[in-house]
Amino acid sequence: MKTGWVYKDEYNWYDMGRSPGLIPPGRFVEPGDHLDQPDTRRRAASLVHTSGLAERLTPLRVAPASDTELLRVHTRDYLDFLIEQDALPKGGYADRGIWRTPFGPGDLEIARLSAGGVVAAARAVMEGTVQNAYALVRPPGHHALPDRGMALCVFANVALAVQAVRHEYGVSRVAVIDWDVHHGNGTQEIFWDDPDVLTVSIHQDRLLQLSTGDADEVGGPGALGACVNVPLPPGSGTHAYREAFRRIVIPRVRDFGPELIVVASGYDASFFDPNGHMLLGVRDYRWMTEQVMELAAGTCEGRLVVAHEGGYSPWYVPFCMLAVVETLAGELTEVGDPVGFIVEGNPFQEISPDQARAVDRVEAALNAATHPRPAS
Ligand SMILES: [Zn+2]
Repeated sequence: MKTGWVYKDEYNWYDMGRSPGLIPPGRFVEPGDHLDQPDTRRRAASLVHTSGLAERLTPLRVAPASDTELLRVHTRDYLDFLIEQDALPKGGYADRGIWRTPFGPGDLEIARLSAGGVVAAARAVMEGTVQNAYALVRPPGHHALPDRGMALCVFANVALAVQAVRHEYGVSRVAVIDWDVHHGNGTQEIFWDDPDVLTVSIHQDRLLQLSTGDADEVGGPGALGACVNVPLPPGSGTHAYREAFRRIVIPRVRDFGPELIVVASGYDASFFDPNGHMLLGVRDYRWMTEQVMELAAGTCEGRLVVAHEGGYSPWYVPFCMLAVVETLAGELTEVGDPVGFIVEGNPFQEISPDQARAVDRVEAALNAATHPRPAS
């Protein structure tokens, strides 16, 4: 079993500017480190090498996403806007200032490389040169909309990869599973009325985005049930996520019968993330990866692409990501989880009644959408 690996140093050169954390620049705001530090991904890539895992992976060549590839999802107007922003001496915003997606000189090429990284991973899996692949890319993509960036995302990396394989390999049905702690609103909007792309997002309820990602968002009129949202309350951990997988994610993806599965893998649902409020650890990322590999084995001959999304603990993301890549490659290194005793021993890893009710709500919303009761 070969596992493809995408990573480029240039991903760390994307400039998020001098805003501290997530606070926009302004009066009373001292410049500081942005929440999305390039060091997080650099350390993750470094651990893949120092653990010895890199020797077991197949490096994949990455080309910047072309206009043709980008225009399968994004508008020409948006691309022209980014070209203008890229030419500003101090940069601008990819989101027209709405959601503070800093965009500096030279960032357009890096955003193209990020999208191109996920497309390259998907192509390698479809060609069969690798069984599965991990794309450690930056900037992330799952919030990006057809006509603007949003929340650090410039291009819709995963959606672009889905459209590339549908266009180039005649694939019709693709499932996207998004376990970033934020709602995958961009992917959802792009495929909202498309019955051949199943989008599943499991996220913290109304973290960001505040107005999307509820259980009753189940797809457009032509695609009812092809959009699945599992909003979990803050504080959800191992057993809430496992319940959501067993009752919602696994049966829905299996019944859909995809020809390829793409995972949007954010690590901001981790115990130590400064941006989310969930409790996942290394063992949970490993478990979720095993589940999607089993799903891929049962539905699409194991074809699986995992794309890096968010995750803001520079010191914990590397261990969570390593567990995902190890699992994909079927290779266990000696690294493990140096703080697993803190995460796994936490009593709030059990599922609480409100977390169980959240999963009940999802099941009810999907059943109502896909098996409407006849009018009496
Ligand atoms: Zn996120």
